[in-house]
Amino acid sequence: MHRLQNARRDSRETTRLAPSSDYCGRFAPSPTGALHFGSLVAAVASFADARAHAGRWLLRIDDIDHTRCVAEAVDSICETLHAFGFYWDAPIYRQSDQLAAYDAALTILRDHGHSYPCACSRRAIAAVARHGCEGPIYPGTCRQGLAPGAQGRSQRLRTPAEPISFVDAIQGQQTQCIADEIGDFVIRRADGVIAYQLAVVIDDAAQNITHVVRGADLLLSTPRQIYLQRLLGLPTPSYAHIPVVRNEEGNKLSKSAAAPAIDPHNPLPTLQAAWHWLGQPPLSTTPSSVTDFWSQAIPAWSRECV
Ligand code: GLU
Repeated sequence: MHRLQNARRDSRETTRLAPSSDYCGRFAPSPTGALHFGSLVAAVASFADARAHAGRWLLRIDDIDHTRCVAEAVDSICETLHAFGFYWDAPIYRQSDQLAAYDAALTILRDHGHSYPCACSRRAIAAVARHGCEGPIYPGTCRQGLAPGAQGRSQRLRTPAEPISFVDAIQGQQTQCIADEIGDFVIRRADGVIAYQLAVVIDDAAQNITHVVRGADLLLSTPRQIYLQRLLGLPTPSYAHIPVVRNEEGNKLSKSAAAPAIDPHNPLPTLQAAWHWLGQPPLSTTPSSVTDFWSQAIPAWSRECV
């Protein structure tokens, strides 16, 4: 990791502008494999949006779910990001270093009665649950307390009947009734792993993130995150969800589904393809290098074109 951190102290450092606004964005890949075109598109959008606002941009490694992480992926992701001209303004933040903060949040939620232990297996839930936009809606079996003799396995959040609304900078007005559409959701899994929905809320607050630009596959998660921010007294960042990149079969590109890795040895054509995919205006001249690409792309970035 030292080598990677030193590698960014290259010539770009002397030419780039110091961040000068309150804007702080981030890219948060899960190290489940090498970066693919879909992750690059998310990185380009969040980096360009941050730099176009003279903001900071941070790298977070979402490695909370150790069952899905691949040891070599962190180095490969960092090397690829460097090759594509990304740089970040603080040491890399890793979720695996934040377990105490997640535990503290779990304790607050439990002590305030916002969460409860759940003894249900996936199979038991699937057998009786209504199907919602993200799978079975938890039927509330353990909401009023565990059945006699039952053992709590996971921890669930009590969800509110009132809808959560927010305005997404790309997708527009969003409203979701979490209780009806998602149900009481897991914040600590049966294997003890903290759920993404809780971890991301703690991380965005710890990193002082003001703007989240990420894939629209997480649009339906955002109300859960906003609700957790409210319960924990944390600020809500502004959200912009970019369309999801899909393969020919219409499935989202994903590292776990073995989407092809992007080639760090020939970054320029892939960067230009990502720019084009994001609907951005053509650059004034054909970029001669990655540095030239970014010096033209950042002032040209337009969220409205996405
Ligand atoms: N780690 C998530 C992913 O790779 C992104 C989380 C986020 O941007 O909130 O899909």
